[in-house]
Amino acid sequence: MSQLTVGKDVLSYCTKCKLNLGHTIVAMKDVKHIAKVKCNTCNTIQSFKDASVSSKQNKTRTKKTMMKPSKIISVSDLWMEKMSSTKKKSTPYAMDQKFVQGDILDHVKFGPGIVEKVVDDKIEVIFRHEIKTLVHNKK
Ligand SMILES: [Zn+2]
Repeated sequence: MSQLTVGKDVLSYCTKCKLNLGHTIVAMKDVKHIAKVKCNTCNTIQSFKDASVSSKQNKTRTKKTMMKPSKIISVSDLWMEKMSSTKKKSTPYAMDQKFVQGDILDHVKFGPGIVEKVVDDKIEVIFRHEIKTLVHNKK
């Protein structure tokens, strides 16, 4: 910020013009604070009103109730999270086995996975790299 001194131009809110306008400093309170300014437009001498402050106050702040954008979680992140939060022992996967939500299974091809959803004879399983729908409880 440039040095403020008497005679310099600053932006201040003119109470007469009712606008943020260029003003000339006529008196300083101290090195950093302006006491009085003269409106370059209407020549009224008045106390300095920081334009940036008043413009902020003029804005009616609408509080944003927006939801934070949900973090994108990769399948492996999800898998890690699920696997680390369970204490269940894994069961080797077989079509005739019956699984419930939260079960850990071991698939010959996909490796260990966790049952996320059970829909009738199908289960949605989160594996290390992909989510698969498998059959279960097949008689
Ligand atoms: Zn003015």
